[in-house]
Amino acid sequence: MDKYKKERQESATAMLQHGKSVHDWEARIRDEELAEGGRARNKRKESIERKLIDMGYQASDFPPKYDYNWRRLLEQPRELSSRIWKQIQPKLVAAIALEKEQKVWAERGVRIDLRRQEVRTLYQLYIEDIEDDEVLLPGSVEFTYLPEVTALVSRDDGLIEVTQERFMDVVAEAMTTFNISERAKLANLLREPAPRCTDYDSSDEDDDTISRTPMEIACDLEVLNRATSILTCYRCSLSSPTSYFPFTGITRHILKFHPDSSYKAISREKAVIGTASAVLEMLGLPSSTRYSDISRKIVCLCGKPDFQQPAEFSELIMHIFRENIWYIQALRSP
Ligand SMILES: [Zn+2]
Ligand SMILES: [Zn+2]
Repeated sequence: MDKYKKERQESATAMLQHGKSVHDWEARIRDEELAEGGRARNKRKESIERKLIDMGYQASDFPPKYDYNWRRLLEQPRELSSRIWKQIQPKLVAAIALEKEQKVWAERGVRIDLRRQEVRTLYQLYIEDIEDDEVLLPGSVEFTYLPEVTALVSRDDGLIEVTQERFMDVVAEAMTTFNISERAKLANLLREPAPRCTDYDSSDEDDDTISRTPMEIACDLEVLNRATSILTCYRCSLSSPTSYFPFTGITRHILKFHPDSSYKAISREKAVIGTASAVLEMLGLPSSTRYSDISRKIVCLCGKPDFQQPAEFSELIMHIFRENIWYIQALRSP
C-alpha cells in the first residue's frame, strides 16, 4: 500500500514539474516575442523621430507620448520603409501642426485668465467708491465675463496688461450693460402673473427687449420698485432675515457673501410677497405701492422687544412673515 502511494506521489510530482517547465517555456517565448515586438516598435519610433528632427522639428514639437493618434503612427511593428514614410509623413506633419495650434490656444487662455484676474482686482477697488445704492453690482467673476470686459481681456490675444486706464475705458459701458440686463431679469422674475417663466436664468431677454418700445420696457421695470418686490437668496437660510432684499440689495448681498458662486441663487417667495401685500392693505395702500413711497416706519403690535421701535418695511415684513409661520406651526401641533 505504501509503495503504491509513493509511486503515485512521485508521478504526480513529475507531472507537476513537467507542467511547470512547459509553462515556463511558453512564458519565455511570449516574453521574447513581446520584447521583439517592443524592439521593432521602438526602432520604428526612433527612425521616425530622427527623420522629423532632420526636417527641422524639435522633440518638444511632438505631441505628448500618450497621444493615441501619434502613437498609432510611430509605434508599429513594421519597419519604416521609404514607402511607409511617404505615406505617414503628411499625417505626422499635420499632427505636429495641430499640437502647436493647441499649445498656442492654451497659452492664450492662460494669459486671458491672468488679464481677468487683473480686472477682478481693479473691479473690487472700483466698487468701493460706488455710493449710489440703485446701481446693481455684478459679482467680480461675473464682471470679467461681461461682453465689454471679455473684449478687453482678449485684445491682442491677452498680451497686454490691463492697467487702471484700460480698465476705466470699458467699466462704465460694462456696468450699463449689466444693469440693463440684470434689471430685465429681476423684473421678469418678479412680474405677476409671470408671462412665460419666473426662473432667473432661463429667460432670454435680449431678443425681447429689442422688439419692445422704451415705454414698454420702463413699464415692465416698474415692478422692481414695488414694496412687494422682495427677493430671496436661497443659498442663505430662508428663516434668516438677511435673506430678503429689495432688488437693489440682492446683487450687493451676493457680491459680499457669495463672491465665488457660479450662479445666482435668487428667487421670490410667494408667502413673503403675500405678507407684504397684506401689510400694505392694512396700511390702506395699494399692492402696487413703491418701496420708496412708504414714508412711515411701522410698529408691530405683538410686543416683541425688537419690534417696539418703528422698523423699516422690509424688516417688518420678515418679522411678521416668521410670526405667521410660528402661528401656523403652533396651531398644527396638539
Ligand atoms: Zn445669500
Ligand atoms: Zn411682531
